[in-house]
Amino acid sequence: MKIIRSLGAMTAWSERLRRERVTVGFVPTMGALHDGHRALIRAARLRCDALVVSIFVNPTQFGPAEDLAKYPRSIGKDRELCRQEGVDVCFEPSASAMYPAGFQTVVTVPAIATRWEGEARPHHFAGVATVVTKLFGLVRPHLALFGQKDYQQAALVRQLAKDLSLGVEIVVRPIVREQDGLAMSSRNVYLSSDERILAPTLYKSLQAGAEAIRNGTTDASAVQSVMAAVVRQEPALTVDYLSVCDPLTLEPLSIVTFKAVLLGAVRLGVIRLIDNLMVTMPVGRR
Ligand code: AMP
Repeated sequence: MKIIRSLGAMTAWSERLRRERVTVGFVPTMGALHDGHRALIRAARLRCDALVVSIFVNPTQFGPAEDLAKYPRSIGKDRELCRQEGVDVCFEPSASAMYPAGFQTVVTVPAIATRWEGEARPHHFAGVATVVTKLFGLVRPHLALFGQKDYQQAALVRQLAKDLSLGVEIVVRPIVREQDGLAMSSRNVYLSSDERILAPTLYKSLQAGAEAIRNGTTDASAVQSVMAAVVRQEPALTVDYLSVCDPLTLEPLSIVTFKAVLLGAVRLGVIRLIDNLMVTMPVGRR
């Protein structure tokens, strides 16, 4: 496995392979890799000839009061996981190379970025959209894989790849969970043992909402109440949002007629957990 840090070397490697008609796959990450990342990398491995994983803790997607400085970093282990999974290139650019003095451009996808995570983290999605656009420019992949774990992020990346005709196929893969349902996340290492026990409550609330829809509840506010009631059972948790949304636009629904995505974010101590669940109304109930 090659480790590439220079931007120019990354593009040169990719361009050479593209000229040889090799399919280049790409999995962007912030490192601290876990089995959710592993599943994305495995899925990518099956879809391409050459596979690039980037490890870059992107400063511009963190707010001033967020955890950039203490975001978990484990580059040695990350490289080992990439090696095990047959990754061809680990791309590890520095922040100063990515954002040299004079860097100005900001990519925004206003409608998708407004609500939910966008409201809680005002600069987050502009940082994500900008870094993803730049990484695509450097890696020049044919396809790039993202996790459904970050549902709004995946929707935003799809939109920007389409709007800007980036020529990259965006593939979104399912959420990998711990046995008790907690969505895997690099930030889960911040959870204390007590918090870790409570953390799956968010997923349980989404499951309760999905169950209500499958049982015929079409009123989105009734579904929200079902989800909120589950979270309220654990006073240590506070709800940021629990919403019933259109899976494509992420706009809140008032009535569920066919498909919905349940999006949730809760706070547990200083930690914020996000999760989501797609639900389809059974045919007989539509
Ligand atoms: P991150 O390193 O957190 O920026 O995540 C890199 C990619 O891995 C993103 O596309 C995430 O959505 C995806 N990812 C993170 N956690 C999971 C998970 N539990 N299951 C599936 N994909 C995930």
